[in-house]
Amino acid sequence: MDDSYIMQLLLDSLNWDYLLIVFVIICGYLYLRQILRLSLLLITAMAIVSISRTGLHWQNVASSTQPLTTSTPSHTQPSVVAEQYPANSNFTSEQINNYLSQFFYEQSTLSSPLNQVDKPNLPPNFDILLLNICSISWEDLAHSGNLSHPLLKQFDILFSNFNSATSYSGPAVIRLLRANCGQQPHNDLFQQAYEQCSLFKQLELLGFKSEIFMNHNGEFDGFNKHIANNIGPLSTSVTTADLPAFQYSFDGSLVYDDQVVLDRWLKLEPQSPKVSLYNSISIHDGNRLQSKTDDRALSYRQQQARLLDNLEQFFINLEKSNRNVMVIFVPEHGSAIQANKFQLSGVREVPTKGITHVPVGIKFFGDFQLASRSQITLTQSTSYLAISQIIANVISSELYHNRPTTLELLTANTPTTPHVSQTQSTTIVQLNGRQYYSFDNQSWQMYPENNK
Ligand SMILES: [Zn+2]
Repeated sequence: MDDSYIMQLLLDSLNWDYLLIVFVIICGYLYLRQILRLSLLLITAMAIVSISRTGLHWQNVASSTQPLTTSTPSHTQPSVVAEQYPANSNFTSEQINNYLSQFFYEQSTLSSPLNQVDKPNLPPNFDILLLNICSISWEDLAHSGNLSHPLLKQFDILFSNFNSATSYSGPAVIRLLRANCGQQPHNDLFQQAYEQCSLFKQLELLGFKSEIFMNHNGEFDGFNKHIANNIGPLSTSVTTADLPAFQYSFDGSLVYDDQVVLDRWLKLEPQSPKVSLYNSISIHDGNRLQSKTDDRALSYRQQQARLLDNLEQFFINLEKSNRNVMVIFVPEHGSAIQANKFQLSGVREVPTKGITHVPVGIKFFGDFQLASRSQITLTQSTSYLAISQIIANVISSELYHNRPTTLELLTANTPTTPHVSQTQSTTIVQLNGRQYYSFDNQSWQMYPENNK
């Protein structure tokens, strides 16, 4: 991470309230950069801001006098908390610790039926394309005024409550590649994957060839390595070396135009059915257009609108191609473009719902029979396992072998996943509509909502 990017990030978030604390962070960072990780300094800053603002956030939840305001327990929460504690009670750290243990235990027992799908008599006759996009959440769409963008209306299936479970790219792509199993604790993501958890490995067994391509070199923060560790080393299926840079990433590497890269993919000679992962960092924080404005927020708005327009155009081109493709739009995480008093703009160390609540959509292209194309919206709390389940349903239903079905049938048994998100330093748990955070997975505090 280069110094100019970090300075930009801090300076963009500056206001009079933060002036003193930003000064302390910069001095501390410059002095201690050789021995401390940036994240530790950011957390320290958050801690000080939190104390100075309310004096409340650092109390143990058990001693807080603030009642929980939501009285409707979510049916998606594991029973251990939902049954033992009334919806309007406060949660102690011990209760949340028990809840989290139960959550990860239950998740460790879950797997997608994709693993049990018999190899179809007829070989697959469609492709699966995962559009894995960095830095776009529902909050970001609202911030940019794009909640009604036509792209969102194009999806046959829209997930309105999907949790990316992390706020960073590497863990996000690992979680997607392991979509066949329940949610793993953050630290387990960097252990060897179980083969039955690998979405791509299981699809290979069913006749889909694995493929990746990106609009960047994938070298930052070991991104390529994370992918290779989970699906094996794959060279890109779309050549980008001869393309001009459309943008420059914050680390100075080249970022290519999504539309050009996706069009190249579309023009590849169709061979065997394939499952493709496309990763885009077009709207990652810190990217600079060649004719850039220095207003980072405005730049994010422009880039987000361009990305959505590009994808909409790609959908039109895909439609015209008459190819059978199941497209899954699944952002990595949000951009955190909106600052609040707890976390600076662009900082994603605390994986709040604003960052991990991402718009996910599925659209079918090609030759099939669906009773209705009216968009179906899945409102329950979901995560990656739901994607694997719906892929399994599509294969089992023989949708692309012209057996009639409905969107309701394809989504009938979509698994819910309670809202738990993690980075290396922080865990967020949502209970009764409130978020709780912990830096050590022992002591929990209520996250101050609406604290803009
Ligand atoms: Zn990302």
